[in-house]
Amino acid sequence: MSLMQFFDDGNHDSRMQLKAVREYNDMLLEAFVPGRCECCRCKENNYFDYDYTYRHTFRVRGEKLKRRFAVYGKEEVQKLFKNSWKAFYKQELENQLNKKGELVLQKEQVQQFTRLFLIDRLEILLKELFDAKVKNNQYRIKGLLN
Ligand SMILES: [Zn+2]
Repeated sequence: MSLMQFFDDGNHDSRMQLKAVREYNDMLLEAFVPGRCECCRCKENNYFDYDYTYRHTFRVRGEKLKRRFAVYGKEEVQKLFKNSWKAFYKQELENQLNKKGELVLQKEQVQQFTRLFLIDRLEILLKELFDAKVKNNQYRIKGLLN
């Protein structure tokens, strides 16, 4: 399927209203709150969290965001992303796997069903949870479908 076929059906707004797409965008909204993490571990570390397995605080366009671990774990993020793709494009995310088993997604494709102001949050989660690489307007993701 060509990129244009993905976008050019004139039906974008109604597809953004699909349940799975809304749930996915809500997840991105709720998975973070403004401000840095103030947990004991971060305080004791002087807010240095680079050596954590999963970081607690992220900087996005000059603003700090704290990740809410208790709300959405890895499996939940995986499920919601997958379902949203499927609902929006009416095809399985698995179709985007390359021969090496990497998921290769055009950034534009992902932006179609991700609200603009939530894209940075998605990138944080993709990198943190699924070891995603962002390059040349492409996401290459290893862990999302395993
Ligand atoms: Zn913390």
